[in-house]
Amino acid sequence: MKDLTKLVRQNILDLDPYKSARDEYTGTAKVFLDANENPYGTLNRYPDPYQQELKQLIAENKKVGTNKLFIGNGSDEIIDLLFRVFCNPGKDKAVVFTPSYGMYSISAAINQVELFKIPLSESFSIIPESIQPFTADDSVKLLYICSPNNPTGNCVSPDILRSILDAFNGIVVVDEAYIDFCPEQSCINLLEEFPNLVITQTMSKAWGLASARIGIGMANEQIIALLNKVKPPYNVSGPNQQAAINALNKRDLNRSRIEKIIEQRRQLAIELKTFEQVLEVYPSQANFLLVRFRNAQKVYEDLIREEVVVRNRNSLIEGCIRISIGSENENKKLLKALKKIEHEESIIY
Ligand code: PMP
Repeated sequence: MKDLTKLVRQNILDLDPYKSARDEYTGTAKVFLDANENPYGTLNRYPDPYQQELKQLIAENKKVGTNKLFIGNGSDEIIDLLFRVFCNPGKDKAVVFTPSYGMYSISAAINQVELFKIPLSESFSIIPESIQPFTADDSVKLLYICSPNNPTGNCVSPDILRSILDAFNGIVVVDEAYIDFCPEQSCINLLEEFPNLVITQTMSKAWGLASARIGIGMANEQIIALLNKVKPPYNVSGPNQQAAINALNKRDLNRSRIEKIIEQRRQLAIELKTFEQVLEVYPSQANFLLVRFRNAQKVYEDLIREEVVVRNRNSLIEGCIRISIGSENENKKLLKALKKIEHEESIIY
């Protein structure tokens, strides 16, 4: 990797960041009159800007030092902050593999960063040689890999990831939003070895906290310091930090929920394959299944009529619908609706 300072925007290196009241005075006191807070109420005080209690629990859970952790208002915030730290608008570029999560290209567009889209193989794997044209280009600062990938559900192989980290001179961001459904696939163990690796994770999926907006960034201390420099001072609300702390203190409950979802995914995949309409159910390591239908658009619309909403990915991957794994009851309702649709079809033809 290149010298990190050569990858970072000069204005960010030069930035003298905002200092909140809690940055200026961090000790205890009887009276705090330094942050223009309201003395009344229960949510009247600003939250910890660096979320230290939460980071301590995440550090234990993920076996990563607190100095290598960043908490975002969802991992979407971290995706955006990385563009803002590394990419000069209108000048620098980034790379993604498609099909993948849509926010990489939206964040790139918002930050006026040109995005190169490299197609995945037919089995949705990264073709390592495909990054070659971008390894020598100094203006390509970021490369995003999603593992497990949304919407395809598969993970990038460790060998491919290692070869990309070796070959690419910029920052490699591995989005592990769904990794808690397959923790053995995480590349956390590569953090020490590769200073150009940034991992993003989230509590929105396996931890059941989508509403609380807790994204986790992991990287070397220098990159974490840059993210802290650029983030809004109190980017994660107090109640949301507390919700994450509560969830992390109930790990066993969470583990059993993850196991339930994985078992439901297994059963749902078996059931879906019995439908005449279904051409393929792709293997998934996440909490969703990508399913190819004979007529995805029609199935999507028919399901809506049955009040079951799935994600139509037909425009991204022909014939495909992404189905989140619900509760046992929700999955039964989906299967019942599909059976009804298939039965009606058989009457028409
Ligand atoms: N990455 C991926 C791959 C996702 O699918 C999502 C949400 N759908 C996110 C990041 C964003 O997650 P959040 O902002 O809720 O942490």
